[in-house]
Amino acid sequence: MECVLLASGSKGNSIYIGNDADAVVIDAGIGYLKQTLGEMVLDTSRVRALCVTHEHTDHMQSAKAFVKAMQIPVYGTSGTLDASLRSGFLPQTAKLTICRAKIPENAASLSIIAFHTYHDAAEPSGFVIDDGDARVGVCLDTHEVTPAMHDILRGCDAVILESNYCSAAMQTDRFPCCITCRSCGARCCGNRKVPRLYPRYLKDRIREDGHLSNENSAAAQRQLAKNVGIIALAHLSENYNRPNLARESAEDAAGESGTEIYVSDQLPEYRKRRLVRFSV
Ligand SMILES: [Zn+2]
Ligand SMILES: [Zn+2]
Repeated sequence: MECVLLASGSKGNSIYIGNDADAVVIDAGIGYLKQTLGEMVLDTSRVRALCVTHEHTDHMQSAKAFVKAMQIPVYGTSGTLDASLRSGFLPQTAKLTICRAKIPENAASLSIIAFHTYHDAAEPSGFVIDDGDARVGVCLDTHEVTPAMHDILRGCDAVILESNYCSAAMQTDRFPCCITCRSCGARCCGNRKVPRLYPRYLKDRIREDGHLSNENSAAAQRQLAKNVGIIALAHLSENYNRPNLARESAEDAAGESGTEIYVSDQLPEYRKRRLVRFSV
């Protein structure tokens, strides 16, 4: 299967996962999504469903237009689908498939398995997409990864996992030094200042009910490293993370396992030069 992180981060999230016959898009958080798929040379006629993780704007802002343009069904938990309809993110006429945790649903030849995540939304979930040959897990917007989630993700060939913020930066408003500044996506040049400081209440929300730190992401990766060949880090904070710091903690977690690591970010040139695209 081919996986493309079309966009990742607080400005928008959307992931394409599919094989030669069938594909799904997970979240529709960027505008011109159908056009973007075309620009990535992805065959839109293969897309069988939109899977939605939760009803926040950065995951849903173009869902209505995309579902209408593509005439495809929407898969998600009942809480997410309800909240999305109420917020006007989906057409009232959308064909919906309610996913219950760990119970597979089919979209053409693909099996779609939802699992619970922990985030300040109605009923957030991650997904595992399986085409019989390969299995890809997507786990975004969760402040923790529980043992039950490890069990699901351990069976995947590749996992797209949140690595949202650096705990030290969140505590002190300064970044620790990264080892390899030269290739740092944020072009830090040794500058350790956090670009835009968050107020206390927002920091508390992110830590307690929002997102996964680099450190907690790395702890989850340690549980997966033996089994999962590819880890793609996603949903990095623009203010409280840097691609290099996330990569360093992931490489540390991978140890000698040989797990391949990709890091997505939301810099302006992301789609042109730093796109995360891999096959499993
Ligand atoms: Zn969210
Ligand atoms: Zn998000």
